[in-house]
Amino acid sequence: MDRLPETYRLYAIKYAHLDRFPPGKFLGGDPHETGAALDYFVWAAVGESNSFIVDTGFDAEKARKRARNITHPVAEGLSAIGIRPDAVENIILTHMHYDHAGNSALFPRARYHVQDREMAYCTGRCMCHENLRHPFEPDDVSSMVQRIFDARVQFHDGESQITTGLSVHHVGGHTNGLQVVRVHTKRGWVVLASDASHYYANMEGRRPFPAVYNVGDMLEGHATCYKLADSPHHVVPGHDPDVLKRYPALSKETEGWIVCLDAEPR
Ligand SMILES: [Zn+2]
Ligand SMILES: [Zn+2]
Repeated sequence: MDRLPETYRLYAIKYAHLDRFPPGKFLGGDPHETGAALDYFVWAAVGESNSFIVDTGFDAEKARKRARNITHPVAEGLSAIGIRPDAVENIILTHMHYDHAGNSALFPRARYHVQDREMAYCTGRCMCHENLRHPFEPDDVSSMVQRIFDARVQFHDGESQITTGLSVHHVGGHTNGLQVVRVHTKRGWVVLASDASHYYANMEGRRPFPAVYNVGDMLEGHATCYKLADSPHHVVPGHDPDVLKRYPALSKETEGWIVCLDAEPR
C-alpha cells in the first residue's frame, strides 16, 4: 500500500518590497495601471522528517544596487520560524533570477535543487541579450557553478518527486528552466507558483507578466499550476502583496511579514 504523503507546514516569508514595477503587471500594459507594487518572498516547507527552503532572496548589497527595500533580511525571517540558515539541508530554487537565488553564503550546508534547463539558460547564449540577462546576477550564477563542483547540486529534468509530500515541476515561460513546487499540507496540495504567476491576476486572467522568455510556456504554466493544486485557492503567486492579506499571519509579531499557506485563505 502507498504510504500517506508527508504533510508540511508551509510559510511565505516576505523579505523585500518595491512600490512600483515600471512595466506594470501585464504584457502589453493596462490602461488602468502605471506600475504595480511587488513583494519579495522566500518560502519554507517544514515537515516532520525534512524541511525545504524555496528560493533564497537577495542581500543588502543587491537591494542597494537595484533600489529595492529589504523589509526583513531572509535570515531573520527564517529564524522567526525556527530555522537556522547554516543548518538548512535542502533548497529548491524555482529559478536563478537575482531575487530568488542570492544570499549565496547564507546556506553553507545546503544541497540546491534546480532544473537542468535553468542552468543551461543562465550560462548560455540567452545571456548575451541584455533584456534576458538583466534579472540575473553573475555571482549567483558562478556560485551555483562552484556548488556543482562541490557536489551540492541536485538537478531535475521536468517533474521530480523529492519526497512523498513534495515535488518540483518544470514550467518554463518566465525563464527557460522555471519550476513550481507542489507541497502536501493539512489543507491539501498547495502549489508555490513563484514567478510562473507574479500576481493572482496573471494566472486568473491568463495574462502574461512582462518579464518573459516564452509567452506560450508562461500561459501553459498558469494552467499547470491550477492542474497541480487542489483548487485555485491552493496556488500561491510569486510577488503579490495580496498573499499577506489572504493568509493568516504566523503570530501577532509577524503580521505583514510571515503567513501560513497551509491555512485556508480569506
Ligand atoms: Zn523571476
Ligand atoms: Zn521574482
